[in-house]
Amino acid sequence: MHPIPGKFTSLNSEELMMDRRDVIRRGGVAAGIAALSATGLGSPAAAATGQGQVPEFLPLPEHAKPFPIPAEGYRLEPVGKNGYVVSAGVAQGYFFVTQAGVVMLDAPVAVAEFLPLAVKRVTKKPVTHLILTHDHDDHIGGAIKFPKATVVSHELTAQLLRVYTDPDRPVPDVTFSGKRHTLRVGGEHFELIYPGPNHENGNIIVHLPKQKIAMMSDVVAPGWAPYLHYGNADHIPGILRAMDAVLELDFDVFLGGHTYRTGNRHDVEVCRAFFIDQWNWTVQAMKDIPMDVSIVEAGNLWAAQAVWFNRIADNVTPRLVKKYGKELAAVDAFTHDNIKAIIVSSFTDDPHFPADALK
Ligand SMILES: [Zn+2]
Repeated sequence: MHPIPGKFTSLNSEELMMDRRDVIRRGGVAAGIAALSATGLGSPAAAATGQGQVPEFLPLPEHAKPFPIPAEGYRLEPVGKNGYVVSAGVAQGYFFVTQAGVVMLDAPVAVAEFLPLAVKRVTKKPVTHLILTHDHDDHIGGAIKFPKATVVSHELTAQLLRVYTDPDRPVPDVTFSGKRHTLRVGGEHFELIYPGPNHENGNIIVHLPKQKIAMMSDVVAPGWAPYLHYGNADHIPGILRAMDAVLELDFDVFLGGHTYRTGNRHDVEVCRAFFIDQWNWTVQAMKDIPMDVSIVEAGNLWAAQAVWFNRIADNVTPRLVKKYGKELAAVDAFTHDNIKAIIVSSFTDDPHFPADALK
């Protein structure tokens, strides 16, 4: 491990190693992605060289830097009038203390062992409900820690969990179909809103209207550019629709499931603008840059496309990095790959993605 001197000073080498192990164990967006980026391990560019060489990345904007982690191994931060953020690495879980009990929003693997301890620090009340935003393991793989809670999700999430039969991710007790479901617990009011397929089928917004808090996992990472392939997204155009559905709500605080801090309306707006530029500039470059099949063996269309994809990504990436590099962290990490994901999405997911949505 070779942490960059002067950077990431709040994470010691042991924490970096723990985060790395967790990422490897879970193979996903659990804790420590920033740690991996800091060392170059796991970065696409480093993998491409095969030499372990670390490319030069932009520095993190001040607002995106990690906070010191207390001795107990996690941060506990109040949000709203009765809510709490439990974070470790770039993973965040949330809970709200109602008159009747505690309502948990997701149970991320990276903070699973901390969540019960964090609840005990602020209340003696039991965890009565666990709302699952979606099925992804890094967000709900700690659900097993709350065996007595009533688990709530969209029906599409339940369908996936029934297929997985994963002991760490129980099938929900209460599901809803369609666009909306209201959960009332102990004087609190949770609006569960499904904006259609997005990062994942079934991925919902949780809105607490009285507290002006909106929570949605993996659609906006406050202060950061999108993760690789939009976090294994099911439907990339739906990510824009999901951001628009969030922005229709009355909220001051946005909780995104990842990164070191909570977000706000501006964070959602910046990520929306980035998405639109990335989509529009990619689609335009697809028109401007011809695919040249003469440079590869006759009939090897995949090879010709691979070259074409890279030329488009080479064209668009520097412009996005220039425009957003000071505002969105790590915009130079996954944007090149995500442009290629958009190319595929543009001719599979939604070739008629409405122009009026992309303004
Ligand atoms: Zn996810």
